[in-house]
Amino acid sequence: MFRSRLIWQVYPLFLAVTLVAVGAVAAYCSHAFRVFYRSEARDELKALATVAAPQVARMLDADPAGIDPLCKRFGRTTEDRLRFTVVTSAGRVLGDSHEDPALMGDHSDRSEIVAALRGGFGESIRFSPTLGREMLYVAVPVGGASPGQAVLRLAISANAMDSVISNMRSHVVWAGLVIVVCVAALSLLISRSISQPIVSMRRVAQSFAMGQFNVRAPAAAATELDDLAKALNEMAAQLSDRIVTITRQRNELDTVLSSMIEGVFAVDADARIVSVNRAAAQLLSIDQAKAQGRAVEEVVRNLGLQQFVRQTLASDKPTEDDVSFSGAGERFFHVQGARLVDPRGERAGAVIVLSDMTRIHRLEDLRRDFVANVSHELKTPVTSIQGFTEALQEGGLADPEQTKRYVSIIGKHAQRLNAIIDDLLSLSRLEDGSERRAISFEYHPLKAVLKAAIELAAVKAEHKQIAVSLDCPEDVQAKVNAPLLEQAIVNLIDNAVKYSEPGSAVEVRVEPREEQIAIRVKDTGCGIPADHLSRIFERFYVVDKSRSRKLGGTGLGLAIVKHITQVHGGQVTVESTPGKGSVFTIYLPGK
Ligand code: ADP
Repeated sequence: MFRSRLIWQVYPLFLAVTLVAVGAVAAYCSHAFRVFYRSEARDELKALATVAAPQVARMLDADPAGIDPLCKRFGRTTEDRLRFTVVTSAGRVLGDSHEDPALMGDHSDRSEIVAALRGGFGESIRFSPTLGREMLYVAVPVGGASPGQAVLRLAISANAMDSVISNMRSHVVWAGLVIVVCVAALSLLISRSISQPIVSMRRVAQSFAMGQFNVRAPAAAATELDDLAKALNEMAAQLSDRIVTITRQRNELDTVLSSMIEGVFAVDADARIVSVNRAAAQLLSIDQAKAQGRAVEEVVRNLGLQQFVRQTLASDKPTEDDVSFSGAGERFFHVQGARLVDPRGERAGAVIVLSDMTRIHRLEDLRRDFVANVSHELKTPVTSIQGFTEALQEGGLADPEQTKRYVSIIGKHAQRLNAIIDDLLSLSRLEDGSERRAISFEYHPLKAVLKAAIELAAVKAEHKQIAVSLDCPEDVQAKVNAPLLEQAIVNLIDNAVKYSEPGSAVEVRVEPREEQIAIRVKDTGCGIPADHLSRIFERFYVVDKSRSRKLGGTGLGLAIVKHITQVHGGQVTVESTPGKGSVFTIYLPGK
């Protein structure tokens, strides 16, 4: 379909209509003028003939030979514009203003003459064989003495009339052309005035399409166009409102989704990712921007989750499952899915929510391990106590020496049970939120706290002839809970003593800094192999089980130290070289 601007469709139509109208008017005018002019000429000839007829009649009666000169005189008075001819009823030409009558043939057959001889008025337009051109003839009967004996005929050249008509026609054509030019210019203005509001409305509509809703269609003079402009403006206002609402809702949704801890992603009906929130991108280790529009199989490298997405897309009900991700560290997710439907109620995709259960899984594992460890640690002394008690009951009491040994073993195991239970209670107090909040902290001179700890550990140290030295500036104060810090330091000194050779030395040194205070407990004992260092602060973790148990260890000492430093807002670290010794450092926040 040929397309062009509205103005170039309307304007040619206007021009065509104008040309046809002007052409038709011009044609009609020239035709009407021709008819009018000929009828005028005929009437003029008729009037002249009527006036001249009596003269011809008189001459006919008086001197028929004078007819021809009379005709010629008549002709001259009209400057030979009109031709005068007198013809007898027999058709003989008596006189002619332009020709010699003797040379003219019988005229009785001329239609105008035939009509005049019948006593009426004859006229015709036809070719004159005498003059060789088209003529308008008018004939009247000439009375005289014997009425009806002759006919006076007047003729005028049709060419003379036509030149007047063509002159007139050229005037009409020129006037028509002037009218056409004027109308063409006027039509251009009218076409523009019609197309201009539509062009400006098109521009406004294009602005709307580009999202610029602040522009408005101007009012138009034509009511239809003005209504259209109003409708456009109303549409823009409504669109703008809706877009603002949609944008606000989307922003709210984005904010909610991005602040969610749960990972959320949506897929379309072909399982292509439509959106991913920040948490999901982190949990699945994917690039939020790159994932968009890609198939879930490409983005999520986990068969379980891929199958879950497919299953959710196919299901009419909400789905849920647990999936695990293996990799650097195993991760566990609880996944929930729901189908998305479009406004027509057809499947549009699905939304999947991922809850990271890794921590809960780990805590669950820890709890299981802890229960197993506690049971195991308690079972050993209980079994021993039970065994030695049975041995005593079964006659062991008979031998006083053996009884003494058995009772001492039972006592040792009971002591161990007690130590484990004490440590467990300390740990649980440190882990309990309300107990933790109840712990009070005050500024204490560190030297006094450390001295008290060294004194508590002194018995065991002296037993192994290990000297425990203290290097602490007098004025160092720290905001601590003195009994807890004392317990932590005792645990560290106890360990240092336990895992050192008799006669060696243990140093306790305080290094105060602006931001934190370091309390170091250094020994020259057996040290800890590097691969155990990261785990020795875990509950019940021991490097060498039999050695630790022989030395009366519970595997809870360092866990208690870690918790005590944590409640003080500090941390504990260890540096150790197997065979050379270890340094445990408690960092406490400074002033
Ligand atoms: P235990 O009661 O067995 O000493 P801890 O929690 O106090 O338990 O210590 C955990 C483990 O760390 C010990 O079994 C031991 O192997 C190691 N350890 C702790 N302190 C030292 C140290 N000063 N020198 C060498 N090994 C140590």
